[in-house]
Amino acid sequence: MKITVLPGDGIGPEITAAAVEVLTAAGKKFNLSLTFDKQLFGGCAYDATGIPLPEATLASAQGADGVLFGDVGGPKWDGVEPTKRPEKGLLQLRKALGLYCNFRPMQVSKYTAHLSPLKTDLAKGADLLIVRELTGGIYFGEHKEAALVNGVETASDVELYTKPEIERIAKKAFEAAKLRRGKVTSVDKANVLGTSRMWRRIVQQMRDKDYPEIELNHMYVDNCSMQLILNPKQFDVILTNNIFGDILSDEASTIAGSIGLLPSASLGDGTGLYEPIHGSAPDIAGKGIANPLGTILSAAMLLRYSLKQEAAAKAVEKAVETVMDAGYRTADLATPELKKVSTQEMGHLVAQALAK
Ligand code: NAD
Repeated sequence: MKITVLPGDGIGPEITAAAVEVLTAAGKKFNLSLTFDKQLFGGCAYDATGIPLPEATLASAQGADGVLFGDVGGPKWDGVEPTKRPEKGLLQLRKALGLYCNFRPMQVSKYTAHLSPLKTDLAKGADLLIVRELTGGIYFGEHKEAALVNGVETASDVELYTKPEIERIAKKAFEAAKLRRGKVTSVDKANVLGTSRMWRRIVQQMRDKDYPEIELNHMYVDNCSMQLILNPKQFDVILTNNIFGDILSDEASTIAGSIGLLPSASLGDGTGLYEPIHGSAPDIAGKGIANPLGTILSAAMLLRYSLKQEAAAKAVEKAVETVMDAGYRTADLATPELKKVSTQEMGHLVAQALAK
């Protein structure tokens, strides 16, 4: 099984190295023959080749079973022309891999619950997955920039969804719920929007026909944004469209208390892309202090969703817990009574816990 590794920029090389060490340990333990192909991507690729997504990188990703990605960007490339910026490379890669589905899990672990902006008892134990449609809706509908229409400045953006687009994302959510607690909350604005009414009807029909074992409820997006704060533990899988998912996933991630622990996956019908939710953290790059656990947990998602190795995925997640239980933390989460370790040491510790 081939994994393309795209360390990218900033802290990317440090955190992906730690995750590769953990994947290697998982490969040994579960007898998986994993190979890693490291490629240039983002600002470092621009420096070396003049573009953020070189052909060799794209070819490697397209031929891989999964792509492990750190992050791209940083002030060094802020002045680069828009079509060659590191972030543009990421959009190109997502498009080339046909990634129409974004998974953003959010767990308030006992280690970070005290850092949550919510009261600890409300936040602690929350464990949800946001399944966001990624290539349709208002971000991709017809855009009309501001212009005078009948003498009045006017702009518009069209929300458009087709039945197949809704079916394929709903299927991802139902399948994910089967591996979790079996509950899907579909979030829309069906009291106002025609696209939402179609979304709601199609999702309900799919549940009734193909997923009778899944508990499905529907919720308006305005209510969902309140419920995430009032009672985040009520949610298992949240299924939603592009724009609502964009907003709700950022809201949910703040509940976790730290971005350093949160993984994500972008999926299509072929190769999936796995990355932590944070950026390239240029302020701490090269210092060996970045938290690699978001990337290590992204690697666990790669094992689960792309390689279909649920036992190995669970073992990686358990190893992270074991290391946290033993009191080890990187600088972002360290307090005087805990054991502060570097990025690299954290990778070693998780790999060792996994091997046991
Ligand atoms: P950021 O997530 O990089 O950093 C925000 C803060 O969190 C910083 O103080 C940083 O030090 C800290 N932080 C982030 N990850 C951490 C980790 N693993 N361990 C410890 N601390 C961590 O967000 P930003 O500063 O807004 O963006 C920096 C660059 O990253 C920008 O160029 C932006 O475009 C890019 N970016 C890339 C991606 C991506 O590659 N998918 C996503 C977001 C931002």
